Amino acid sequence: MNIILLGPPGAGKGTQAARLMADRGMVQLSTGDMLRAAVREGTPVGQQAKAVMDAGGLVSDEIVSALIGEALDRMAPEQGAIFDGYPRTAAQAEALDGILAARGRALDLVIELDVDEEALVERVTGRFTCARCGTGYHDVFKRPARDGVCDVCGSTEFKRRPDDTAETVRTRLAEYRAKTAPILPHYEKDGLVVRVDGMADIDSVTREIGALLDR
Ligand code: AMP
Repeated sequence: MNIILLGPPGAGKGTQAARLMADRGMVQLSTGDMLRAAVREGTPVGQQAKAVMDAGGLVSDEIVSALIGEALDRMAPEQGAIFDGYPRTAAQAEALDGILAARGRALDLVIELDVDEEALVERVTGRFTCARCGTGYHDVFKRPARDGVCDVCGSTEFKRRPDDTAETVRTRLAEYRAKTAPILPHYEKDGLVVRVDGMADIDSVTREIGALLDR
């Protein structure tokens, strides 16, 4: 199966994608993660993307679509893809159609995580991850059992995304509203869109997505 997780920053796309990878052997294709890796490694793409990302704007359609094509080419044909944070514009949605068709893949489902915008700023500004294993935490909603120690790997180092500030989240939300939400009709016309309540607790969202995939 190939699915898109769609939703504003903080909707829970990354959290749910990680669970789908662990539970179903699907592969998460997060353009945000790919771009952050490029920034870390100082590649030409990273150098070009960094300022835009820090400001909460959108990186060029050509760059992200190329990253997605390359990532799909590294996957085995039988592995399902979870598109997380891509496509984000009409041009990317069109590019993805071509990218999938060229590889003999088709989209099965677009899952829109429906969330209350007021809650997003708190969700996003409070989140942090283990610097070693990547487990996600939150200042209010999911603290490690022992303060300062990762529950999963015991590391004492954590990190926060530089773009998870209140101001940048507002810009990212505005980008979502203006450019990403309008791509839904592209998929609605093929009956691919399902909405899931992203305000429910994490396990309930996982169960609901699982049920949709098993339909
Ligand atoms: P994310 O991790 O999905 O929240 O993405 C973090 C940042 O990376 C975004 O705010 C954008 O600057 C950039 N980015 C990630 N995915 C895309 C995309 N599909 N199109 C354009 N920019 C993207």
